Amino acid sequence: MINKKMQGLGAKRSVIRELFEYGKIRKAEIGEENVFDFSLGNPSVPAPDCVNENLVKLLNESDPISVHGYTSAQGDANVRQSIIEYVNKTHSVEYSKDCLYMTVGAAAALTCSLTALVNQGEEVIVLAPYFPEYKVFIERCGGVVREVLCDQVTFQPDFDKLEKAINKNTAAIIINSPNNPTGAVISKENVQKLCDMFQNAQERYSKPIYIICDEPYRELVYGDVKVAFVPKFYNNTIVCYSYSKSLSIPGERIGYVLVSPKVDSFLEVYQAICGAGRALGFVCAPSLLQKVLPYCLGKTSDVDVYDTNRKLLLKKLTEYGFTAVKPDGAFYLFLKSPVEDAYEFCERAKQFEIIFVPSDDFGCKGYVRISYCVTTEQIEKSLPAFKKLAESYNLI
Ligand code: PLP
Repeated sequence: MINKKMQGLGAKRSVIRELFEYGKIRKAEIGEENVFDFSLGNPSVPAPDCVNENLVKLLNESDPISVHGYTSAQGDANVRQSIIEYVNKTHSVEYSKDCLYMTVGAAAALTCSLTALVNQGEEVIVLAPYFPEYKVFIERCGGVVREVLCDQVTFQPDFDKLEKAINKNTAAIIINSPNNPTGAVISKENVQKLCDMFQNAQERYSKPIYIICDEPYRELVYGDVKVAFVPKFYNNTIVCYSYSKSLSIPGERIGYVLVSPKVDSFLEVYQAICGAGRALGFVCAPSLLQKVLPYCLGKTSDVDVYDTNRKLLLKKLTEYGFTAVKPDGAFYLFLKSPVEDAYEFCERAKQFEIIFVPSDDFGCKGYVRISYCVTTEQIEKSLPAFKKLAESYNLI
């Protein structure tokens, strides 16, 4: 007998993928330039030169066997040393390379961490709206998703709701700042408040409760916005980091888990993460991609393009009568649907050849996610269509 749950996951495409496929068909019908597809979070700016130049160099100049060989399961020691030196310098900490475990992107960092830390029937809190794959990852390891809606004005955590959600079965909370799909960055004050709340809960229930920080958008912030480094605020912190978005290499699959050295029973937690990676069959993260990282630390793709897009979209859509929270990071705009049903809003938008994603799958109704990781030209060309969409709801 096949596993029906797995079949279900494979058979049903996510709403995002569904809309992306629709966009492809529509582009073939009426021409690429006439469809304004804001469905996917695929970076739209090229990787910085350090990526391709050093990949080529590694291929040409390294030992031809070892460059493609297995690395140790937790990742190449020299690579981890370079990364941790960068982490130490950036966040003024003194960690050892042995708290890093290299992974196949943030998705694998999350599945390894959850598998290591969550037992059958335990709850994992997610702050809604949230990345829909969290539910898949949590349920796969027998955990139960506990959704807690964020404040609907700021999209910061709602602490009253959060306090009520924590209980003796809580194993962990996932926080994602900058957030997909809202672009919200949790303020330093709120990180402190959240950590204090979980510190109290740990004492109340006499057990560790982990804060898992999902950080693929850490470098994608605008203006003088800063993303707090949670291990400095809370000992039982696990960071799931990815280079997918910062270096525009999502298909290459490289990231890491950083286990705070101050985690309770550090060695056991770290070993559980290594064990989870083994049980899930990851073997090691892609060798070539690991080895290019020391040449790219501190570098990012051209984030200015996203900032230009963000400002332009927010200004124009607000002018047309839509409402959205100003995103401080990532490359998503969370727009309030002018009607209760966000699916209806998406269908109406399709009539104007605009494709965006209803918020329901992110655990929060009544909004749409606009991925502005597209060319600025696409945004400029889409504005008359957005205006017509607003007019169709009498917003202007
Ligand atoms: N977490 C969030 C919030 C994301 O938006 C994504 C990808 O879009 C991921 C995790 C997965 O990232 P990766 O490509 O590094 O696996």
